[in-house]
Parts: sequence; C-alpha cells; structure tokens
Amino acid sequence: MRAAIFDALAAEETPASAYDIADTVSKARGKRVAPNSVYRILDLFVSNNIAMRVESANAYIANVHPGCHHDCIFLVCRNCKQATHVDDDKVTDKVRAVARSEGFQPERPVIEILGTCAKCAA
Ligand SMILES: [Zn+2]
Ligand SMILES: [Zn+2]
Repeated sequence: MRAAIFDALAAEETPASAYDIADTVSKARGKRVAPNSVYRILDLFVSNNIAMRVESANAYIANVHPGCHHDCIFLVCRNCKQATHVDDDKVTDKVRAVARSEGFQPERPVIEILGTCAKCAA
C-alpha cells in the first residue's frame, strides 16, 4: 500500500492531493482506497522527508532530494501547477530569526512563491 502510494505520488508532475492519489491507487488496484488512509501515509512520508507538503496547493510532492534538511522554498506556477523546489538557507534562516525576534518559536517556515514558471512565461 505504501509503495503504491509512493509510486503514484512520484509519477505526478505537479503536487497531488490525497484525493488525487486515492483515485490513482484505487484505479491501479481495482479497489477503492479511502483518502483518509492515503492522508495518513502521505503525512508519514512527510515526517520521513520523502515527500513534502505544498501548503498553498493543499497537496503533496515527492521529495527529489530526501537527504535535504533545509527549509525548502517552493516556486508554484499558477498556470501549469508545477512546484519547483529550491533552497536558500540565507532566506529561511532570516525568516526564522524574524520569528524568534518576536519571541516566537518557529517550527517550520512555509515559503511558497506563487507566479509563472519560466516555461509558461516563455
Ligand atoms: Zn530543499
Ligand atoms: Zn508553469
């Protein structure tokens, strides 16, 4: 089940919701898979850093570098829905520092930039 869900997620070109994944896996296995169980497994993938959540899309994406422990930044194209993963520790460290300066204990900065990707802009 986990492998089927991971394969379905990895095959997606754009971030996929638990519902999208439940549909794909249901079709592949010929029996209905509940989105709730897919959610649980996707969250497990996120805690193991093999998948990431794209908050603005309310969706998940396979982690292309699972060894990466940065606060990842996503560039989310409004047109093709592609979410490109970039890292810039200077930016994310600064965001964490701003939060701390307010006495806030940051858990995870969510930095997603909505716009148009290079391919769609061309
Ligand atoms: Zn990253
Ligand atoms: Zn695009």
